[in-house]
Amino acid sequence: MKTIKKGRPQKGWAFKAECTGSGNGGGGCGSRLLIEQRDVYKTFKSCIGGPAEEYRTFQCCECGVETDTDCVPGIVEQTKLQWQERQNSAEEREKKISAIIDRIFDALADEQEGDNVVVWSSEIHRQLKPIISDLV
Ligand SMILES: [Zn+2]
Repeated sequence: MKTIKKGRPQKGWAFKAECTGSGNGGGGCGSRLLIEQRDVYKTFKSCIGGPAEEYRTFQCCECGVETDTDCVPGIVEQTKLQWQERQNSAEEREKKISAIIDRIFDALADEQEGDNVVVWSSEIHRQLKPIISDLV
């Protein structure tokens, strides 16, 4: 096989669901969410004395409540621990990128004065983020 023209990166399946807290004591915030493959993980629950049952679970990005769902359109391999580790490393990466941008900004800000600096800072963040994301 030969590629004539490269497409976009494969992203896996996704589905829409509501944050209900179902299977986790309720209390969801009711947000409508687009849930992607990487957002879903396996959880196990059992009643006292019963066998452990496997569930497909996601955590709402708005309120942090977990919801069990039956709507998953594909296979879920990821465990909750793997998901948590990925969340942490993604967060760490975000922090690193922000720190680099801050350093660049500090270096440049010495040249600037007044109210412009705040506007300018967020503009620098917006423009540099995708560039640095590719490098880190
Ligand atoms: Zn929620």
